[in-house]
Amino acid sequence: MQPIFIAMARIRIEKTFDFEMAHALDDHDGKCKNVHGHSYVLKVCLIGSPINQTGHPKNGMVMDFGDLKKIVNNLIVDRFDHALVLWEGSPYLTPEVRKTQEKLIVVPYQPTCENLLSAFAEWLQNAIPEDVSLHSLSLRETATSMAKWFAADQQ
Ligand SMILES: [Zn+2]
Repeated sequence: MQPIFIAMARIRIEKTFDFEMAHALDDHDGKCKNVHGHSYVLKVCLIGSPINQTGHPKNGMVMDFGDLKKIVNNLIVDRFDHALVLWEGSPYLTPEVRKTQEKLIVVPYQPTCENLLSAFAEWLQNAIPEDVSLHSLSLRETATSMAKWFAADQQ
């Protein structure tokens, strides 16, 4: 009988999330300067080696998809879903809006796909367990437009 050998392969795992969000891009030279919304699709890809330990509740997994879901929902989806996201200097950020918008997120940057993704990457890198790494993220804004973040690009 051949001995069973499991190589400590590096494996990427990916989970998809979605949320609805409104924003405005101040100073944009097109229609994105108006408050409008998107159905965003966020993909989170982690890299690591599957746990190889008999009896371990997560044996064979890089990370339990359920645990990843909790982290991403807590940090991103629950906060941004059905929120209005505005730059701190936005002319739309009136006292009325501050008072009436139940889910208003004010950010110190233009809330583009690219900038949101940079912020998400930083939060996720701080939140995921030490034995896995954030490999890449993508944030789809429309059917034809998306931004991507890769750890390898940041060096
Ligand atoms: Zn937009």
